[in-house]
Amino acid sequence: MLEKVLVAGGGVLGSQIALQNAVHSKTVTIYDISAEALAGAKKHIAAFKEQLIKDTGKDANEVQQQVDAIKYEVDLAAAVKGVDLVIEAVPESFEIKKDIWTKLSDAADAQTIFVTNTSTMLPSKIAAVVDRPAKFIAMHFANLVWAHNTAEIMAHAGTDPELPAQIHDFAKSIGLVPIMIKKEHASYLLNNMFNPFLTDGLSLWYNGIADYQTIDKVWMIDLESQAGPFGLIDIVGLRTMINVLKATGDRKSVV
Ligand code: NAD
Repeated sequence: MLEKVLVAGGGVLGSQIALQNAVHSKTVTIYDISAEALAGAKKHIAAFKEQLIKDTGKDANEVQQQVDAIKYEVDLAAAVKGVDLVIEAVPESFEIKKDIWTKLSDAADAQTIFVTNTSTMLPSKIAAVVDRPAKFIAMHFANLVWAHNTAEIMAHAGTDPELPAQIHDFAKSIGLVPIMIKKEHASYLLNNMFNPFLTDGLSLWYNGIADYQTIDKVWMIDLESQAGPFGLIDIVGLRTMINVLKATGDRKSVV
């Protein structure tokens, strides 16, 4: 059973992942690069907690106790000690991911399983820098994890054949719907459809075809949607959006 979880990177997604694990009774630690970054993670969690309670109807006192139990750590070796599973959610830059996975490989116990939440990179690319490629797999969470509760699970050729099933069961244990990808494919299922939608919206604005409010409006009215591409970019976060565009090369002269 995977009970002790370390979330590496407490930004937009890492804080949500930590919260989702905590409210499903996992023992959770968040690692980030500085006390300031951890203070940011706490702020994210305080805000996302309210949204989670509203969306799921969970008991506010119980959620508060589970949130209070989350530990915060700036010392990576201390953070990863005794952990069953590491979920990495650092920025979508290979250099940053390479750096943290190298350090995690040195510091983690031999049995600890490694998961990346990368949006665009193939797991095999990151597996090449870890000391235990057989225990390495990608598990992609969607923004607003408790509500958009899919977990896209993608192994690489060197993944232990039993690991996808284990991660499938872990995903279910934290209230997610496991989505099993048959083979490595950049950007999984959702982002293969979602990213072109965002970049097409950006391209319309960049080329002066319409202002961004109008672009969002037509989408929201005609597809009965709560947000258009620009509203969704606000939720994704600009830093991640730019990193995704750079990584995929899907820029259409926008950034
Ligand atoms: P973010 O920029 O909001 O947060 C990244 C966090 O990582 C920050 O707290 C930062 O301080 C920390 N960090 C930076 N360098 C670090 C290091 N060396 N070690 C540990 N922590 C470090 O980014 P995000 O949007 O949360 O994205 C994180 C990952 O999740 C990316 O791989 C992204 O592609 C993926 N993802 C994002 C979304 C989304 O909608 N934002 C959705 C699914 C997956």
